[in-house]
Amino acid sequence: MRKAATTKAATTRTSTAAGAKATTARKAPKAESHLAMVRRARRINRELAEVYPYAHPELDFRNPFELLVATVLSAQTTDLRVNQTTPALFAAYPTPEDMAAAVPEEMEEIIRPTGFFRAKTKSLLGLSAALRDEFGGEVPGRLEDLVKLPGVGRKTANVVLGNAFGVPGITVDTHFGRLVRRWKWTDEEDPVKVEAVVAGIFPKSEWTMLSHRVVFHGRRICHSRKPACGACPIAPLCPSYGEGETDPEKARKLLKYEMGGYPGQRLSPPADYPGKPAPALGAE
Ligand code: SF4
Repeated sequence: MRKAATTKAATTRTSTAAGAKATTARKAPKAESHLAMVRRARRINRELAEVYPYAHPELDFRNPFELLVATVLSAQTTDLRVNQTTPALFAAYPTPEDMAAAVPEEMEEIIRPTGFFRAKTKSLLGLSAALRDEFGGEVPGRLEDLVKLPGVGRKTANVVLGNAFGVPGITVDTHFGRLVRRWKWTDEEDPVKVEAVVAGIFPKSEWTMLSHRVVFHGRRICHSRKPACGACPIAPLCPSYGEGETDPEKARKLLKYEMGGYPGQRLSPPADYPGKPAPALGAE
């Protein structure tokens, strides 16, 4: 597993150094046509698929209910913190029926590490009661049903649909929005509008994996404050190259998770993940 991570990082290092060099004199596309932008966007997606063939949702889950709960818990915190918290939560309340009957104070104690634990407890009690009473204890597989559940917005619903039901969905979180604006796919700030624009660029079959790839790239290389442009494999396709660190040596030091040789966010990552699993709560 370690070897695979090292190999992937090495591959990235080689291609990124070349990419950074090739882009030194490149300018942002001026008056790029819509068609040219679509072609460039699709190339970015293909390149990202090469860089992150193992892209996946970074929340640990074993069924739609666990993914729904984990996604609600992930508001205002990291997937790592959620993954470190959910084993105890699902051991205590494995089904919607169990969770709906939980003593609020006991649940609050379990999910405290994820922050906003009182509001999140309220949401989880409400949504598990709704699953029990209105959906026979099952998570519904339709967007219109999911968004009616307490604490479940469009983003959460798309995560659940895309990853637990195989229904194509674009998940516009903070990383996705930031990157597609840097790539000039759109200037929109509103996640619903961003979703609509991106849906018009890619076929439905790409939506879920595109979402994972973009978020992977945002978490590992194209960071919010200091993007690692000098170590970015898609630099030649990026109009925002230079917004971050362009020195390849310094940029490499900014890489995170398996790209930087660190553990990932999942305690139970998929078998093809080339990095190390995340540590359990308290073992960091
Ligand atoms: S801003 Fe920099 S790190 Fe982000 S995609 Fe563009 S070149 Fe890569």
